[in-house]
Amino acid sequence: MSERTEQTCPFCGIVSGSIPSQRVYADERVVAFRDRNPQAPVHVLVIPRAHVRGIDEPAAEEGALLAALIHAANEIARREGIAASGYRLVWNVGPNAGQSVFHLHLHVIGGRQLDWPPG
Ligand code: 5GP
Ligand code: ZN
Repeated sequence: MSERTEQTCPFCGIVSGSIPSQRVYADERVVAFRDRNPQAPVHVLVIPRAHVRGIDEPAAEEGALLAALIHAANEIARREGIAASGYRLVWNVGPNAGQSVFHLHLHVIGGRQLDWPPG
């Protein structure tokens, strides 16, 4: 999946609506939807509308994009009722972290006690 282009990227398909998803948030820069394989009661992915391969790309370091992703994640936590109980924001980068989709996505995970360190 690593070398997919925007034409075949599944998350670009989710942004355009050609691939269905359970959307929980959208604004002019980002879209968020429920992970299809949730690891906790709340597991949402926040992605830019623009195709950016990952958080290790220069395009990901743009301040406005990062602010939009983090604002969306915090807003989702409030909407999902986990703002007070706590949550984890995760960017997986590369093979050792298990990154499997190469369109930047911020995991918002919560609704249960989360283990530390992560596996
Ligand atoms: P990564 O391991 O790359 O950080 O996370 C990719 C995540 O995307 C995984 O948790 C996986 O379950 C989720 N995912 C992959 N494809 C789809 C999809 O088509 N729809 C949804 N809702 N989630 C997906
Ligand atoms: Zn994409």
